[in-house]
Amino acid sequence: MQDLGNWTPSSWRARPALQLPAYADDGALRAAEQRLATLPALIFPGEIAQLRTRLGAVARGEAFLLQGGDCAESFDEVGQDAVESTFRVILQMAVVLTYAAACPVVKLGRIAGQFAKPRSSDSETVDGTTLPSYRGDIVNGSAFSAAARLPDPARLLTAYAHSTTTLNQLRALAQGGFADLHEVHRWTADFVRTSPQGARFAELADRITESLGFMEACGFDAARTPQLHAVEFYTSHEALHLHYEQALTRHDARSGRWYGGSAHMLWLGERTRQLEGAHIEYLRGIDNPVGVKLGPNAAADDVLRLLDRLDPDNQPGRSVLISRMGSDKVAERLPPLLRAVRRAGRTPVWCCDPMHGNTVTASNGYKTRDFERILGEMRGFFSAHAQEGTYAGGLHFEMTGQDVTECRGGAQALSDEGLASRYRSACDPRLNGSQSLELAFQIADVLKA
Ligand code: PEP
Ligand code: MN
Repeated sequence: MQDLGNWTPSSWRARPALQLPAYADDGALRAAEQRLATLPALIFPGEIAQLRTRLGAVARGEAFLLQGGDCAESFDEVGQDAVESTFRVILQMAVVLTYAAACPVVKLGRIAGQFAKPRSSDSETVDGTTLPSYRGDIVNGSAFSAAARLPDPARLLTAYAHSTTTLNQLRALAQGGFADLHEVHRWTADFVRTSPQGARFAELADRITESLGFMEACGFDAARTPQLHAVEFYTSHEALHLHYEQALTRHDARSGRWYGGSAHMLWLGERTRQLEGAHIEYLRGIDNPVGVKLGPNAAADDVLRLLDRLDPDNQPGRSVLISRMGSDKVAERLPPLLRAVRRAGRTPVWCCDPMHGNTVTASNGYKTRDFERILGEMRGFFSAHAQEGTYAGGLHFEMTGQDVTECRGGAQALSDEGLASRYRSACDPRLNGSQSLELAFQIADVLKA
């Protein structure tokens, strides 16, 4: 078993911690942490072990990882729609990829806890007024007012409650019949149905339905095949707010290990992966699969040191390296990292986030991303792996099933002017349901080639 040395759930507190909020009231923070510590973990150790097994298959090149969801979830999104629509698009994308690559797809949401955001600047100025930056609903509010921007420890408990509701809905969707492969035609949202993607998906759904009918006519007993009636769906978020993560850390008496109880998988962002920093210290001690984002400035040596710290025993399924280089840099920056990691005998899952290196400002001020550049980084990711003899194991998207207008391009040909009509993200621009499905078909073509 991994030797954790002097690690404890709170040992991160002795390290420099970037991106954490400054609360005015320490007492209120402590009260929220104490309350969280008494509440049940959202997920359980057996589920973590199962996800590690699934990601181990990805690391060996036997499965593919699909990770996606909002940049930042919002406490204001209530009702069924937001979660259900994202879940159904992930299912659709996964079916497209499973069919194309004939390999299992591990479905991992950026959901049920994606509430804390790192920011490039501590403050924001609008019309001469300067206020603290919005840091995600777990910290403060996105509205531009002094009251909303004040960090409020009570939000830690709201984040937990919100995550619980979302996770409950996800478990019901995954296991309660909605995800049954016989229902594949019902997963398409109305606004996608009439699009070229909708038509292409309907064709694929017909083929699946026909295959199931054929197999059943041959005597195959679908009723006794649970994989046809339910899916495994896992949750993840950025482990940024360490007070929250520590408060939900639990000890598993059976394995003798610690695990993060807030999500199945946790990752660290590009801004908080300092080797001696608080975030790496926290993550190294928990048993969950852990991810690290790698931007264009990551050096091969940094990556090897990170793996030494987070995954000293080189266990397949423990570590996920999420590259986010930018479409113009991926061909140059990714191959040296792949080479160094392969030569060191390391076998992490390699995943591509084609979103965060491709953010631009539109002519009318909206933060946006171009469909073509997102696709370009993905293609660069697959080529770099082909060139280095490593396995391109997965993709990480900011997406929603809803009909938002936040990223440009795609078959819908969204332009700068079009962004204003339904731009809803409080943070980064997401692919909408139609753009997400279109990307899945494009990747499927790459995987088939
Ligand atoms: C994110 O995933 O929303 C994010 C902030 O990413 P990164 O750390 O890669 O910038
Ligand atoms: Mn983001």
